[in-house]
Amino acid sequence: MTRPRDGLYVWVTWLSKLMSGEVQCHWSAWFKTHYTDYRTQPIDARLASWTVEHNQYLAELIRKRKSLGEITYKEDQNKFRVRRTSGLVIAGKPDLIAYNKTTGQYTVYDVKTGSQRQSDIIQVMLYCYCLPYASPIYKGKMLDGCVVYKTDKIEVPSKMIDDAFTKKAIYFLNIVESPNAPDKCPSSIECEYCDLSGDDCPEKMLSSEVDDAKQPEGEIPL
Ligand code: SF4
Repeated sequence: MTRPRDGLYVWVTWLSKLMSGEVQCHWSAWFKTHYTDYRTQPIDARLASWTVEHNQYLAELIRKRKSLGEITYKEDQNKFRVRRTSGLVIAGKPDLIAYNKTTGQYTVYDVKTGSQRQSDIIQVMLYCYCLPYASPIYKGKMLDGCVVYKTDKIEVPSKMIDDAFTKKAIYFLNIVESPNAPDKCPSSIECEYCDLSGDDCPEKMLSSEVDDAKQPEGEIPL
């Protein structure tokens, strides 16, 4: 049953979707930051297929990095938590961190099975920003990142994590940890993929309720 969290907590993927603008409804991330044990949507069967595909790509990536002589750390080995001075905990779990013994460089990888999205890059940037504060292993280090897709990859060099990026992260962190809830922004597409249920968000729009034929439509003299 939904209850307030003992301490505020945000998952990096909630934040990256807000920062990229991929999620317009800020209320969802704000609510999950402040509350826990909420009922989520039933697991979609498509998620099982996605999980298998993701695990396969990740295994292939690990095999490749190891063949290059790198030391690899996978998923649960990379879980981290960092605490802001306000008390808000930021948590994440990068898919893979690889260490190149020759260069002394750590690279944070995240594997994606779908099409490229800005939030993918921001997610990895947030990992690279937080990890040096989360573990003595990475303390003082500039971490590179990389988003790996089925047939492509996007490098995320450490120089991208600059003051401008930090300021943007702070802006959105302040939104999710504010005691004042942001406005909801229900829309059929976003509500369909939002993991909150109608129990906590009565404004949730179900796709079955949306009829394109009933959408307002104007005429334009062209
Ligand atoms: S269900 Fe819709 S309105 Fe409610 S939090 Fe999710 S996206 Fe926002």
